[in-house]
Amino acid sequence: MQPHFLEIKSLAKRFPTKDGELTVFEDVSFGLERGEFVCIIGHSGCGKSTILNVLAGLDAPSDGEVLMAGKEVRGPALERGIVFQNYSLFPWLSALNNVIFGVAARWPGWSKTRVREHSLRYLHMVGLKDGAEQRKPSQLSGGMRQRVAIARAFAIEPKLLLLDEPFGALDALTRGTIQDELLKICAETHQTVFMITHDVDEAILLADRILLMTNGPQARIAESVRVSIDRPRERGSIVHDPGY
Ligand code: ADP
Ligand code: MG
Repeated sequence: MQPHFLEIKSLAKRFPTKDGELTVFEDVSFGLERGEFVCIIGHSGCGKSTILNVLAGLDAPSDGEVLMAGKEVRGPALERGIVFQNYSLFPWLSALNNVIFGVAARWPGWSKTRVREHSLRYLHMVGLKDGAEQRKPSQLSGGMRQRVAIARAFAIEPKLLLLDEPFGALDALTRGTIQDELLKICAETHQTVFMITHDVDEAILLADRILLMTNGPQARIAESVRVSIDRPRERGSIVHDPGY
């Protein structure tokens, strides 16, 4: 069988505590295909962010391994982009310069014009235009800031994009609009995405496949369901996918 583009094998994460250690999860294995949009859902505290941090290379696994295109993932790298719930934009830079910062680092050989045009293209894809690109994060609404964070992550064209509850802090209306934009940008770029959410509707709307993480002291990925709709997606149903 062909290996998956992203391969998570027997992954475990334990944190030391004052009287022993906390096993957040163990023996977790799954794979992601190139271009696939996978959501992981589960209750608060079950270990979703911990998995994402390991995939991002921000944290080391206690056991097991993460392979991307056959190579072990170690440490953070530009080939993986991340969006967190709290935007994490540079407050002193304009929206455009927040994107340019990453693009220039990713392609050091590019001319200034090329970097700028590439960055603007991604900002436009998420609806930032008419001068909004020049504003600083403090002059943008929460929704706009999260759009900038998404544009910045997509613009570096990472092999894997990791999203940790990116819409958790947004009101329902804004969330809906940005979800639509995310669908559009994914259809255009075929970006491989691993996204955490605790919103089942959101997972059904966005994902090709949903992983369910069970709650408890030793959370595991229990099941995988495939979302049975074609792109461009509409609200659809999920079917059990025992074959995965
Ligand atoms: P989720 O994102 O699903 O809400 P987390 O991955 O943030 O859950 O946390 C899972 C468990 O691991 C929680 O019990 C949390 O307290 C614990 N945990 C997370 N990070 C650390 C850490 N750095 N040190 C100790 N325990 C941690
Ligand atoms: Mg979390």
